[in-house]
Amino acid sequence: MKPKVAFFDFSGCEGCQLDALNLDAGDVVDLLNAVDIVNFREVMTERADDYDIAFIEGSVTRESEIARLQKIRSQAKVLVALGACASIGGVNCLKNHLPMEEALRIVYGDKAGYYDTIPARPANAVVAVDYYVRGCPPVTGELVKVVKALLLGKKPEIPNFPVCVECKMAGNICVFERGKTCLGPVIRAGCSAICVTSGRHCWGCRGLVDEPNVDSEKDILQKYGLTVAQVVEKFKIYNTYGDVAK
Ligand code: SF4
Ligand code: SF4
Ligand code: SF4
Repeated sequence: MKPKVAFFDFSGCEGCQLDALNLDAGDVVDLLNAVDIVNFREVMTERADDYDIAFIEGSVTRESEIARLQKIRSQAKVLVALGACASIGGVNCLKNHLPMEEALRIVYGDKAGYYDTIPARPANAVVAVDYYVRGCPPVTGELVKVVKALLLGKKPEIPNFPVCVECKMAGNICVFERGKTCLGPVIRAGCSAICVTSGRHCWGCRGLVDEPNVDSEKDILQKYGLTVAQVVEKFKIYNTYGDVAK
């Protein structure tokens, strides 16, 4: 019997699911040979309530999503957070910096009364999460890597060192040398520093490494005449769930 896999979308842009559909043809065939996909709204109409592995995309931003996620957790043997919104709260948590009434008014204007919303939160603020596929969206292939590890009964090996390591390996010139800021020193690698390689900087979509070297980040800022406040602004985009009122 092949394990049954289900994908569920909560509040997000669905880019993580789209990215899953972007896998190499070979990986898709391998995946379909190894598991039965029983729920995946973006690609199939069938639905099943019987599944072993649940992938959760998106953060929880409505009261009704709490019970929905708890029900999925009670069914799934393994629950995986897919993407930044589910793993760390992600961009949805930007609204947590405002009173909810104000956030609703800004987005929906005089129609705000039609919408219910609560402060955004990652999946692990509601239920236990077993594994994470990080990023916004995750890098292509990390999902397959995680599924393969689960099928082998192993813990997926996701890097727990900073983006700077992969950035240096890619031969990039550090953006600090150009007077800009970057979260690479404290953010978890695994993306090959794609944003820096593409001419930008790291916004932190893969979340913090387990033991971020905050002192080192401060030393770098001091060296380049930058302030902590300048970095905190960037940090807000993906990583402020734990820092604002829930
Ligand atoms: S993590 Fe990024 S790509 Fe995935 S649902 Fe959230 S905003 Fe979209
Ligand atoms: S550009 Fe960012 S990720 Fe690359 S070395 Fe500099 S701080 Fe690290
Ligand atoms: S460089 Fe930073 S923002 Fe870009 S994908 Fe990697 S972790 Fe995410």
